[in-house]
Amino acid sequence: MSDAMHSSPARPASAMYRPRTVGEAVDMLAGARESGTEVVLLSGGTDLVPALRSGERRADAVVALRRVQELRVRGAGADSLTVGAGVTYTDLVGWSLSPGLARTARVVGSVQIRNTGTVGGALGSARPAGDLLTFLTAADAEVLTASPSGPARLPLARFLAGGPAPGAVVTAVRLARPGGPQTYLKIGGRQAAFPAVVSCAVLVDRLRRSLTCAIGGVGRLPARMEEAESAAAGDIDWATGTASPAAARRFADLVTAAAARIAPALPVGPRESAEYRWHAAGVLAGRAFTRCLLPAATPDEPT
Ligand SMILES: Cc1cc2nc3c(=O)[nH]c(=O)nc-3n(C[C@H](O)[C@H](O)[C@H](O)COP(=O)(O)OP(=O)(O)OC[C@H]3O[C@@H](n4cnc5c(N)ncnc54)[C@H](O)[C@@H]3O)c2cc1C
Repeated sequence: MSDAMHSSPARPASAMYRPRTVGEAVDMLAGARESGTEVVLLSGGTDLVPALRSGERRADAVVALRRVQELRVRGAGADSLTVGAGVTYTDLVGWSLSPGLARTARVVGSVQIRNTGTVGGALGSARPAGDLLTFLTAADAEVLTASPSGPARLPLARFLAGGPAPGAVVTAVRLARPGGPQTYLKIGGRQAAFPAVVSCAVLVDRLRRSLTCAIGGVGRLPARMEEAESAAAGDIDWATGTASPAAARRFADLVTAAAARIAPALPVGPRESAEYRWHAAGVLAGRAFTRCLLPAATPDEPT
């Protein structure tokens, strides 16, 4: 994608920097900013290149991160998983250590988008119903950044509320290792070809006896469904990791009600009214709960 940008952008960036390390990227970004140059970071370019072409974004210089190998790393510690900002959706599709991330990556875009779109780009764009953002919100993920003032770590919700700090490069996200079934569901214009209209992630942690749920596409950012989460924790039989169909219905109703309390912040169309989004949130949540917790369902189990 980044090479294509040179062929016919509406307003070409005059300088292209290609760092090989995160340190170089931070220095190049800082140097360009200090000289008053309007500079942007480029990962896969699936969001940025169309925005530059249409004139929605402008830049005098681009720092292209594709050659920074340390951003392409993903790994597992005793309790956590770390996913580098340069990891693509395709890299995540078959990742057995995180079935929820793998499932989320599988329903993103087309194969071309999955091959080029990255974790760092998803965080940089912060689309309201970005698939990864919804999953990472339910996962209580942290965002790792590097800037001239050094490395930093902050909760995803805080990162999304403030947007990427000027001069900071997202280096990775960190999330807990799965402790039970987890799944991700979305409703879009065409499944797996467009960003979601409404999305839902449910993660069950049998060790911590918790269920977390996030809904994307209702507010400006994905929202946690705390009341439904607490009710679910009381409804689940933690010895078996199962729940009843009545618990699934209650969960769905609580999610619909919570979604309706979120101030509508997104443009609405005839097929995407606020009421439709609230209803869809509950339907997806009920299905996700069922997949994870009803004995006959087939959840995305960690291996
Ligand atoms: C046809 C199409 C279909 C799509 N379908 C989906 C979909 O189904 N689901 C979905 O969630 N998204 C979808 N997207 C959106 C897009 O693919 C994702 O948001 C993708 O993750 C962006 O990653 P990228 O590497 O291409 O980012 P880029 O376009 O390179 O960058 C996006 C933004 O992030 C910033 N950025 C990039 N890397 C970093 C970094 N390391 N640190 C800080 N800022 C950074 C850039 O400066 C830019 O502002 C779709 C896009 C298209 C064009």
